Amino acid sequence: MSVASSRHFLQIPGPTNVPDRVLHAIANPTIDHRGPDFADLALEVFDKLRAVARTSADVVIYPSSGTGAWEAALVNTLSPGDEVLMYETGHFAELWSELATTLGLRPETIPGDWRSGVDPDAIEQRLRADTQHRIKAVAVVHNETSTGVVSDVPAVRAAIDAAGHPALLLVDTISSLGSIDYRHDEWGVDVTISCSQKGLMLPPGIGLNVISAKALLAAQSAKLTKAYWDWQPLLSAGKQGYFRYTPPTNMLFGMREALSMLLEEGLDEVCARHDRHAAATRAAVRAWGLEVLCRDPGTTPGTDHSSALTAVLMPPEHDADRLREVILEHFDTSLGAGLSKVAKKVFRIGHLGAFNDATLLGTLGVVEAGLGLAGVPHEPGGVTAAIAELTGRSGE
Ligand code: PLP
Repeated sequence: MSVASSRHFLQIPGPTNVPDRVLHAIANPTIDHRGPDFADLALEVFDKLRAVARTSADVVIYPSSGTGAWEAALVNTLSPGDEVLMYETGHFAELWSELATTLGLRPETIPGDWRSGVDPDAIEQRLRADTQHRIKAVAVVHNETSTGVVSDVPAVRAAIDAAGHPALLLVDTISSLGSIDYRHDEWGVDVTISCSQKGLMLPPGIGLNVISAKALLAAQSAKLTKAYWDWQPLLSAGKQGYFRYTPPTNMLFGMREALSMLLEEGLDEVCARHDRHAAATRAAVRAWGLEVLCRDPGTTPGTDHSSALTAVLMPPEHDADRLREVILEHFDTSLGAGLSKVAKKVFRIGHLGAFNDATLLGTLGVVEAGLGLAGVPHEPGGVTAAIAELTGRSGE
């Protein structure tokens, strides 16, 4: 029986738990978005966002979800009928490709098995075959939230360079930025796409693009129709602190606080924290005798386990949604559902954003108890294995 006497336990892979410090910042009185205090706020947010994306490039933000930031990246850099090379890492890569089609682009998707990441060799081969340079952009999802697989973005950059191809590199970091190591400048990304509600520890409501000089140049000749998403009038906000439209003032109060928290902890430390929690989660899954959806990173090119979430395969004939229902009912805890192709076959444990050892052990304890209550065949001892991993006694 659910006891909702304290905070709901939100362990989906985004939206994530918003820390009290951020909630309190959002609760500040709204200020004049044309006044001097607002410009100070906005400029601080842009500086901190650049630090978190490890870039000195231009950043634009929108009051939007991640889908808006996807659309902005495409409409600002491309023209009707342009070919875009994509990779079927999972549900979100497919949605992005559908969006590209709707916008009048021609996405070509390299098929994937939803258990592995982008194969950089396949990208290189396809680009080498494109001798006419019809492909204008390569668009990949860094952390595929539907599968818990991370792709190797530097290897994709290297593949484009090895093919000597001029395509832009567009990267969706919606569930990686602020949780998994990501470097816009060093990795040679042209547009980074992200949003607020995952590693950045905010509620849904802000989408963003980080834009390289090459992408800015492409924007000058891009002909897809755009108005609200047009980068040009927004670029000055990053320099003067004023927006053409009414900005989401209170979300920006929260964003300043959330980015400060990430930078105070240190980006390397934030990533190491998530790596450690992901390793402990996998130790628990193995101890339960269940399988992680992500294939063995050692055998699949471009693939690595996500440090933001773990997708767990259910034993055959057992419904992941039933397990999630039992867990919600008994423990007031939400876990992520399997999406489209893997619906009912997997459940997802989110361990991104504001997350610590106690929340991890609480989550894993709830999953272990839920497996028992839902009658899912498993071995006990997942939580013990996770504790061993966390406290360095795993012997692995
Ligand atoms: N890309 C990825 C990797 C995501 O995880 C999501 C949402 O979870 C999206 C894109 C779409 O973002 P939104 O739902 O905020 O529009």
